[in-house]
Amino acid sequence: VLEVNHLSKKFGNNEILKDINGTVKSGEVICVIGPSGAGKSTFLRCLNLLEKPTSGEVKFDGTDLTHVDEKQLINLRERMGMVFQSFNLFPNMTVIDNLKLAPIRVKHMKDDEAQKVAMHLLDRVGLAEKANAYPSSLSGGQQQRVAIARALAMNPEVMLFDEPTSALDPEMVGEVLEVMNELAKEGMTMVVVTHEMGFAKEVADEVWFMADGYILERNKPVELFDHPQNERAKDFIGKII
Ligand code: ATP
Ligand code: MG
Repeated sequence: VLEVNHLSKKFGNNEILKDINGTVKSGEVICVIGPSGAGKSTFLRCLNLLEKPTSGEVKFDGTDLTHVDEKQLINLRERMGMVFQSFNLFPNMTVIDNLKLAPIRVKHMKDDEAQKVAMHLLDRVGLAEKANAYPSSLSGGQQQRVAIARALAMNPEVMLFDEPTSALDPEMVGEVLEVMNELAKEGMTMVVVTHEMGFAKEVADEVWFMADGYILERNKPVELFDHPQNERAKDFIGKII
């Protein structure tokens, strides 16, 4: 469903992504790991063109996103959900209104239908009773579960996660990973930047190790974590275990 060919991204003269290649098949979960500054977030943002690649292709369902007009891009982007490290909920809206906003504004869904979809999703992430609460009254783990539900409200085909648990207190990491785990089991295609090895081992089809703007190694999680081949990967995995 996603295909990246010779992707490069420069900020000024600084080449952050260098010849990235990869394929994400429908229903696959890819975990991306690597040291700070490796280009993981930039890579994820290039997948939905939040960041415009300097060269190369990003194909979504066969369409090269780097060569579509703004209107097509907006349409294609709606089919990908994104969840960030900082939950980015709208603070002045209740939880349920956070979920209903995009379906109503963008998809022109009727209010009662959006309400139904939103309640169903809140139930799924275990937060139905928080529908009318404001984000600031929720814990970090709850806010992140709302952020996931909000992304799902647009019924995306692919979900992109950028370190969704790294801003959370340790005791809240599990509840967010649990929601992601269920999503993966239901067959969602996911690209997840995370250093949660337990999650990667259980859920990922492949782990990609990035450093210095390259994917230096990719393999099944058990192989990559237990028998890394690349020296940088060995060094990095040694540090996160
Ligand atoms: P982290 O683990 O810390 O999140 P990362 O692997 O996600 O790191 P990126 O955020 O992709 O790394 O950043 C890679 C490099 O690109 C960094 O050196 C960063 O300073 C640079 N960079 C990222 N965004 C921009 C930007 N908008 N303008 C200039 N440089 C940028
Ligand atoms: Mg990052």
